[in-house]
Amino acid sequence: MASEKEAALSAVPSDSPTIFDKIINKEIPANIVYEDDKVLAFRDINPQAPTHILIIPKVKDGLTGISKAEEKHHEILGQLLYTAKLVAKQEGLEKGFRLVINDGPDGCQSVYHLHIHLLGGRQMNWPPG
Ligand code: IMP
Repeated sequence: MASEKEAALSAVPSDSPTIFDKIINKEIPANIVYEDDKVLAFRDINPQAPTHILIIPKVKDGLTGISKAEEKHHEILGQLLYTAKLVAKQEGLEKGFRLVINDGPDGCQSVYHLHIHLLGGRQMNWPPG
């Protein structure tokens, strides 16, 4: 499997459907930990921590990444962050956790459908790589 960095550098930024659309539409399996009418959260297939969950909007609405956010996205952005907090609690991450949004090639983004990484269950380091 290509490294995350290789995957990110070979990804072509676009508004085309991604693997996450297939997860939203239940066309491929995913380990879903939270779902409501606007937001879906599922375990990352290549976890970087004991808990690694992706939180995504069900409707992309142009949000290929956070750099494409517009004023009309305020509500869904808030819902995504609040869901991250809910899922962290659900996962029992009382000692803390990290939220990450990668954006574009320099940010190591490989899937162009906005997602928040929720990472926890181990001591994190700073600065990130
Ligand atoms: P990015 O590098 O910030 O774009 O993160 C994309 C994430 O999606 C990576 O951590 C991948 O491991 C994860 N991912 C890619 N395909 C799947 C999948 O089919 N199920 C769950 N996670 C996936």
